[in-house]
Amino acid sequence: MLNDHLEADLKELREAFNSGKTKETSWRISQLNGLLRILEDRENDISMALKQDLGKHHVEAYRDEIGTVVKSVNNALVNLKQWMAAKKTRLPIAAFPSTASLVPEPLGVVLIISSWNFPIGLSLEPLIGAIAAGNAVVLKPSELAPTCSSLLAETILDYLDNYAVKVIEGGSDKGERLLQYKFDKIFFTGSTRVGRVVMSAAAQHLTPVTLELGGKCPAVVGSFSSSRENNMAAKRLVWGKFGLCAGQACIAVDYILTEKKNLSNLVESLKRYIKQCYGDDPNGSQSISKIVNKKHFSRLKSLLDEPMVKSSVVYGGSLDEESLFIEPTILVNPPIHATIMTEEIFGPLLPVITLESIEDSINFIRARPNPLALYAFTENESLQKRLVSETSSGSIMFNDTILQYAVDTLPFGGVGGSGFGRYHGRYSFDNFSHEKVVMTRGFLVDFWFRYPPWTAQKLQL
Ligand code: NAD
Repeated sequence: MLNDHLEADLKELREAFNSGKTKETSWRISQLNGLLRILEDRENDISMALKQDLGKHHVEAYRDEIGTVVKSVNNALVNLKQWMAAKKTRLPIAAFPSTASLVPEPLGVVLIISSWNFPIGLSLEPLIGAIAAGNAVVLKPSELAPTCSSLLAETILDYLDNYAVKVIEGGSDKGERLLQYKFDKIFFTGSTRVGRVVMSAAAQHLTPVTLELGGKCPAVVGSFSSSRENNMAAKRLVWGKFGLCAGQACIAVDYILTEKKNLSNLVESLKRYIKQCYGDDPNGSQSISKIVNKKHFSRLKSLLDEPMVKSSVVYGGSLDEESLFIEPTILVNPPIHATIMTEEIFGPLLPVITLESIEDSINFIRARPNPLALYAFTENESLQKRLVSETSSGSIMFNDTILQYAVDTLPFGGVGGSGFGRYHGRYSFDNFSHEKVVMTRGFLVDFWFRYPPWTAQKLQL
C-alpha cells in the first residue's frame, strides 16, 4: 500500500507546477535566494552535520559542499535570464519566410535522488538546476547521511516554497515507492546497481533520466624531468585520493598506473605527502574523514583481506572499527583480479599498478568500463593526445585531480558505465529543461507544388 501522505505531497507538487508559478522568473529567483540564505544562515549547522555523518573537517565541508554550492547558486542568479531567453535559430532559404527559436520550458515535477558522500552538494547542486529551469521538485537525500538529510528537510521547509519543493526522507524502500509514480525527469546520483533500478522504473512512465554513477577512476602517472613536477604530482594525487571524504568520492583517484622504473620514486613521494597532510598518526588527524558506516568499513576491510592483497600493502593498512577510521594505504601490484582492482574502491586504499611502458595504460583502461574521470600526469603530448582519442571517460584531467568538477562552465557527467546526462552551471539548467522549437511562418509566398494531387505536371518538377 502506498503512503497517502506521499501521494498527497506529489499531488500538491503537480498542482504547484500546473498553477504556472514555478515558471515565473521571480519565483525562480526567490527560491535560489532561499537556497543562498540556507547556506549562509545555517552554515554552522551544515558543517556540524557533515562532521557528524562523515567526520568532515569544516574546511573540507566548506570547500567541497557549502562554498561550492554558494558559488553555483550565485552563478545561476547571475545567468538565469540569459539561460531562460529564447535562442534565435537560422533557417535554410527554403523555409522563407519563417523565423524559429528554441524556447526552454520546464519539464514538470522532477525527482532528485542523491548520495551520502557529499550529501549537501549532491542534493543542492541538481536542485539549483531544477529550480532555475522552473520545475517543481522532490528531493530524496540519502539515508546514510541522516543528520544532513534531516537538516535539508528542515531548512528547505523553512526557506523554500514548500508547495513546489519538497524533501522526502528515507532509504531504498522510500526510493522504490517514489519510483512507482510518474515524474517528468529523474536525476539520480548513486551506484550502478540502483541506477539500473531507477532506469527500469522510469521506463514504465517514459520518464527521462540522468544517471550520475561511479566506477574506477585511474590516474596514469609518468615521470617528469624535474623534482618540482614529480613532487607536485604526488601531492595532487594524495589530495585527489584521500583529501575528499577519505576517498569516498565518485571522482577520487581509484588506482594509479605507472612504469616500473618510476615506482619507487612515486611511492616514496606519496608516503611523504600522506605524512605531511595527516601526520604520523592519521587516526588522530582531524583532516581526514571517517568511513561512512560499519557496512562500508567492513566492505573496505574485506578488500584488504583477500589473498595476496594484504601482502601488497607498502604503507598504512591500519583500521579502527570503533572510530570508523581507515589509514591512507598504498598497495603495490595487488592481484589484478582481486576485488580491489575490479570494483570501485570508494575509500582510502590506493593500489599502484606497474606497467612496462606508460603507453600500456591505454589498453589497460580500454579493457575496463568507462571511468567517470581519468587523470594523467604527463607532459608527453603524444601520450596526452592518445589518451584523449583512444580512451573514453566522462572527463580527462591532465596534471591535477578533481578540479574539473568545480568549474561552472564545464559539464559534469559520465559515459557508458559511469552514467549519462550532464549538469553544473548552464548544463544543469539544460538538464531540467526541454528546448521547445518554436517556428513561425509568414504568408508572403507559398509553393503550389507542395500540395496534392500529384499531377503529371508536379511530377515533372
Ligand atoms: P546507492 O545507489 O546505494 O544510493 C543512492 C541513492 O539511491 C540513495 O538516496 C538511496 O537511498 C537510494 N536508493 C537505494 N536503493 C534504491 C532503490 N532500490 N530504489 C530507489 N532508490 C534507492 O549509492 P550510494 O551508496 O549512495 O553512493 C555510492 C555510489 O554513488 C558510488 O558508486 C559512487 O561512485 C556513486 N556516486 C556518483 C556520483 C556522481 O556524481 N557521478 C557522486 C557520488 C556518488
